[in-house]
Amino acid sequence: MKLKKQVTVCGGAIFCVAVFSLYLMLDRVQHDPARRQSAGNFPRSQISVLQNRIEQLEQLLEENHQIISHIKDSVLELTDTGAISPSGHLPFRSANGSWVLPFDGRPTFLSVQPLDCQFALGRRSQTDLQMLDVYSLLSFDNVDGGVWKQGFEITYEPNEWDDEPLQVFVVPHSHNDPGWIKTFDKYYNDQTQHIFNNMVVKLAEDPRRKFIWSEISFFAKWWESADVHKQEAMRKLILSGQLEMVTGGWVMTDEASAHYFAMIDQLIEGHQWLEKNLGVTPRSGWAVDPFGYSATMPYLLKRANMSSMLIQRVHYSIKKHFAATRSLEFMWRQTWDIESGTDMFCHMMPFYSYDVPHTCGPDPKICCQFDFKRLPGSRVNCPWKVPPRAITDANVAERAGVLLDQYRKKSKLFRSKVLLVPLGDDFRFDKPLEWDQQYFNYQKLFDYMNSHPEMHVKAQFATLTDYFNAVYKANGVAPGTRPPDYPVLSGDFFAYADREDHYWSGYYTSRPFYKNLDRVLESHLRGAEILYSLAVAHARRAGLEGRYPVSDYSLLTDARRNIGLFQHHDAITGTAKEAVVIDYGNRLLGSLVGLKRVIINAAHFLVIKNKDIYRFYQTEPFLETDDRRATQDSLPQRTLIELESSPRYLVLFNPVEQERLCVVTVLVNSARVRVLTEDGQTLPVQLSAQWVSAIEMSGEVYQASFMARLPALGLAVFHLYDSADSPMTLRSDTLLRIPGQGQSIRGLDPLPVRSQTVDAQPFYIQSQSLTLGFSGTTGLLESIRRKDDPQEVRVQIQFLTYGTRPSKDKSGAYLFLPDGNAKPYSQREAPVVRVVEGPLFAEVVAHYQHFQQTVRIHNVPGVDGLSLDITTMLDIRDQNNKELAMRLVTDIQSGDTFYTDLNGFQVKYTCPQTWSKSSPLLVLDSS
Ligand SMILES: [Zn+2]
Repeated sequence: MKLKKQVTVCGGAIFCVAVFSLYLMLDRVQHDPARRQSAGNFPRSQISVLQNRIEQLEQLLEENHQIISHIKDSVLELTDTGAISPSGHLPFRSANGSWVLPFDGRPTFLSVQPLDCQFALGRRSQTDLQMLDVYSLLSFDNVDGGVWKQGFEITYEPNEWDDEPLQVFVVPHSHNDPGWIKTFDKYYNDQTQHIFNNMVVKLAEDPRRKFIWSEISFFAKWWESADVHKQEAMRKLILSGQLEMVTGGWVMTDEASAHYFAMIDQLIEGHQWLEKNLGVTPRSGWAVDPFGYSATMPYLLKRANMSSMLIQRVHYSIKKHFAATRSLEFMWRQTWDIESGTDMFCHMMPFYSYDVPHTCGPDPKICCQFDFKRLPGSRVNCPWKVPPRAITDANVAERAGVLLDQYRKKSKLFRSKVLLVPLGDDFRFDKPLEWDQQYFNYQKLFDYMNSHPEMHVKAQFATLTDYFNAVYKANGVAPGTRPPDYPVLSGDFFAYADREDHYWSGYYTSRPFYKNLDRVLESHLRGAEILYSLAVAHARRAGLEGRYPVSDYSLLTDARRNIGLFQHHDAITGTAKEAVVIDYGNRLLGSLVGLKRVIINAAHFLVIKNKDIYRFYQTEPFLETDDRRATQDSLPQRTLIELESSPRYLVLFNPVEQERLCVVTVLVNSARVRVLTEDGQTLPVQLSAQWVSAIEMSGEVYQASFMARLPALGLAVFHLYDSADSPMTLRSDTLLRIPGQGQSIRGLDPLPVRSQTVDAQPFYIQSQSLTLGFSGTTGLLESIRRKDDPQEVRVQIQFLTYGTRPSKDKSGAYLFLPDGNAKPYSQREAPVVRVVEGPLFAEVVAHYQHFQQTVRIHNVPGVDGLSLDITTMLDIRDQNNKELAMRLVTDIQSGDTFYTDLNGFQVKYTCPQTWSKSSPLLVLDSS
């Protein structure tokens, strides 16, 4: 939990995975002299096709030239007078100062319908247990429950099982983190491969032995290096039901920070591997270690054809309440699923942990004595100071009696007389000795119990599905259906606390840089999969499959596996050690580079009209992407497009299923930029400065923004020129609000800058749809007003800091343990605030010592025009034990209800006052 520091980018865009555009800049061939000379190894035919098109465009340009010159004259007047544009072609400023764009009148498909926001008023599914109601019932008083510290004393009558014996299913397992203290590969080499190697021998020794496995990332790695005999032995164990694959995901995914795209991806990757190599489909979910549980998961598992699932890390007060009401097994229903067709049977483990001391029954001191890896002489022992004893003929009666007492007590918390007893821990069963210790000693206990009818128990090793099937059978229902009288629950299990007020909500925001990188990679994967599929389909149709690099598929697989790996509950959560984080970072960066290659290759093929001339050159990518990262922990550097009088081509890809109208910004080396659509239409361009610091603009690099209409799942090509005649290029108006006098600010030709001393008066930026108000003092957002709504909504952004406690337990990667309420972030001097306004976008950038925040609005119709793009870049490397938080204060009358989301998949509503012991959701911490 050591505090680490990061340079971080995060913002609204992080969660807009599905609306991510990829820019590709057409090759350097057009302007790189070195390559032009060596064009012998570049497809000349392609160049000539492009040249022809350029000539056509030049012609069109010429024809448009006169009209444009005319418009240019009129617009110069119009901008000053605020009159209505008679030509209707150019952006102009209306009387109230806002920019009005020429609009082609075609609809945008991403429009907002009034009903879109009415989901909250819809009918909710009927359930017995709604988690929000459960929270309001709980006192969170943390009373000492005796041997079961966080629970209560459990009693039973000895004759309770006389009619129906207790069925005990002991499920051996080993929890293998694909990266945590060690990297994935190191864990595999040091421990996990030995677990599998021993498994094939030790399970085969006795058909009554069972085991479960969940992380396919590890299993696939072992399988691919195992010889055919080991593979056959393993296959036999699986087909005979001795070894069960549970969940079958690439990892045991985190459920709070992960986006549902990636959660599904890692599940598909694991399931496809199992299907292809073993022909098996998992039936039950097993998630003992994620730090809280999302309602998205039962839905995904159900859709992946599973019928039951198990969870473990749930707030101890909820466990206690559910145990007391025998609600630990329930049907988990989606709040929005009125039809209840996606209900999932769920088992919640009752006690503190998934280790042996906390799984045989309520008393860890006793259960620990039945973890036979801890026999005297072992490196691990029992902290409760009573060691296990090997089972012998002399002690088996006494030992079986003691263990049965725990089994019976645990079973009192459930509705059936079927009991689940997990047997395992982290990286267990790596040594042959442990297999012998556990299986021989337990078998002796089972044999004794089963041969003594007066004990009224039937105990055995089992897989997870063996247990669930027995529960269904005991209740007389088909697998996956609701047993009579079992409760139905809706909601989720966040935030998790394992003891006292140790809320595991720190990890929601730990290592935000990598959380951002994860989303970037997911959007690239989505884009690459679409483009690759389109390109391969076209190549097949054109009979060019042999020329297309279909082997790019392996890059897609690598990326899916690396993203899958990163969904692990110590990866995306930010709870792994530094070296492991770097390992993940390198994997993610490697995959990002690979995906860009897939995208480039596919876009190259797709943009060429005459496919016959297509040639693929491994070493000469036809296109370049819009940014690159030097190392796994560096920020992306945007690619500069060097303009010339001949065109540079910009290919934009829209990975969403709707046509989009959006503002695209690229970096160019000339202020005389001219942008044309593919059919030769000149587009209005907003030219803005590229800033090297808060007050210093670059003299060589400019931002060129234009409005692009992009087809659904399609590519659009734009032509960029350095042109002395660029009448549609309009300069942004820039104002610097600076603290105190004396700083001399000057713009660089052709971008003038005005400056003024900061005052307390609020200031505004606006588009055709929105007016945003900002604090004159802080430069941060204060209000939002829609054009069609006279009501201004207060949305005040504040930055705050949390300290951590002086005690041993500090805020860290896992926990959020603030030293009290948040304190306003303050710095001695007022921030430099930059206000940029133009026809296509307006933005306010506030520069603080530890962060800079950009709030931007786009002057386009549809959703993009009604959205705020908020980007916060922070660097808190000079801080220790401090957390930086962003708070939104609004006057929205939503009562106690607060809406947030689960995995980008569904909306969650919550009532903060019931979470007085919990933590705010929007915390950007320094770990
Ligand atoms: Zn784990």
